[in-house]
Amino acid sequence: MSAGTLTPSETRISGDYIEQVMAHVKAKNPAEPEFHQAVQEVFDSLRFLLQRHPEYREARILERVVEPERVMMFRVPWFDDQGKIQVNRGFRIEMNSAIGPYKGGLRFHASVTLGILKFLAFEQVFKNSLTTLPMGGGKGGSDFDPKGKSDNEVMRFCQSFMTELQRHIGPDTDIPAGDIGVGGREIGFLFGQYKRIRNEFTGVLTGKGLNWGGSLIRPEATGYGCVYFAAEMLKTRKDTLEGKLCLVSGGGNVSQYTIEKLLDLGAKPMTVSDSNGVICDPDGIDREKLAYIMELKNVRRGRIREYADKFKKALFMPTDIKSDHNPLWNIKADCAFPSATQNEINAKDAANLIKNGVTVVAEGANMPSTLEATKLFLENHILYGPAKAANAGGVATSGLEMSQNSARLSWTRAEVDDRLHKIMIAIHDNCFRTAEKYGTPGNLVNGANIGGFLKVADSMLDQGLV
Ligand code: NDP
Repeated sequence: MSAGTLTPSETRISGDYIEQVMAHVKAKNPAEPEFHQAVQEVFDSLRFLLQRHPEYREARILERVVEPERVMMFRVPWFDDQGKIQVNRGFRIEMNSAIGPYKGGLRFHASVTLGILKFLAFEQVFKNSLTTLPMGGGKGGSDFDPKGKSDNEVMRFCQSFMTELQRHIGPDTDIPAGDIGVGGREIGFLFGQYKRIRNEFTGVLTGKGLNWGGSLIRPEATGYGCVYFAAEMLKTRKDTLEGKLCLVSGGGNVSQYTIEKLLDLGAKPMTVSDSNGVICDPDGIDREKLAYIMELKNVRRGRIREYADKFKKALFMPTDIKSDHNPLWNIKADCAFPSATQNEINAKDAANLIKNGVTVVAEGANMPSTLEATKLFLENHILYGPAKAANAGGVATSGLEMSQNSARLSWTRAEVDDRLHKIMIAIHDNCFRTAEKYGTPGNLVNGANIGGFLKVADSMLDQGLV
């Protein structure tokens, strides 16, 4: 058999097996559609691998990787500014430690559930494997929503959350970081409480402040890395980002630094958003406007609609929850950088992007495209960088922060950026070559899923039945 082709009966055998495991996942994890979706996407890619490698099936690796090694779920009580008791739910999913200690962010958002965090933890396992660094996968968070809360309320919540979480994590065990709703402010409060309870100053969290163990470029890393990945995809068609019209969603950490790196590389970012609506600026978002967004979102913690009050040519389109599409993805452009949240691009949005001339989609957010949208991108030969590859720069730089903490030294901005850039080039190269090796050239979804899986699965085989 040649490297890339499966006979129809081989495809069917591995397909039947995958469907059986998938049915089991759905039955055992009811009401967790995002988790099912993340598993389905990886399993769809693995059918190209399993026929050639019966050892994974015999060792029941698929059945094992979908089962978290450990799940913590706990009560987080805290006092609000009125002295009233509030109660939230906290979680930590320790998904897989085959290649290193658990590593993955904390998300604070009203929509957080066990199923959302399991999908994120599952994705994280393969993403971390792709970075080339020794990190297992985990994820955590709470249904606490920092929006509209005072700094003191956020601090009291973080202290209560860490009072429980601290007994499960550690610099060689599980090292959380930020995600939606968890930025520098929250990491500071969490770190302070950890240190106070454990009486140790260690690299137990990443995304720390520069004065207390943080790494230069960590805040920028996910956005910068995603743009580096897009540039690598374009290189395969002998093209660059210079002059490209770009759509960016979200208004937070990933979105802001995606816009900054697009400007560095001569592209023209035109949009930004939050959960209340979309800004489209036909003149483009330049550095002065980006500085305004950063101040608005990171300091004043305001809403994105204020951008249109300040810059009169910009159009604000409020979110219409009844609409079947997002207007942000229906604007003429060359490239799209979804950087807000999961499933923000549905099939209609994907069709709109393709119709409007978009040829590059690089995912800054985790699983921002539905399975149907992903299928459309692949069928239309879009340069499609799936999240677990395109946004891996954030966790990769967290890995670099851990290395600096262990060695008790700090690298320069240029050194960290250079390492991040090289890692993103290596991730693209791995995905590109793996896609080709398994008979689906250009399909970076298969490249990322198979490439990420192999290292984890082989390590699990080496370590026996644990
Ligand atoms: P932030 O909290 O900094 O920003 C999130 C942005 O997305 C906000 O503008 C927010 O709007 C918007 N958003 C969040 N949830 C929704 C929703 N349900 N509907 C519409 N808009 C929403 O988070 P990050 O920038 O850190 O994270 C963005 C994405 O990138 C997430 O998918 C995250 O998992 C992923 N990611 C982040 C990494 C990191 O290093 N931070 C690393 C890798 C991936 P609003 O303010 O109105 O809620």
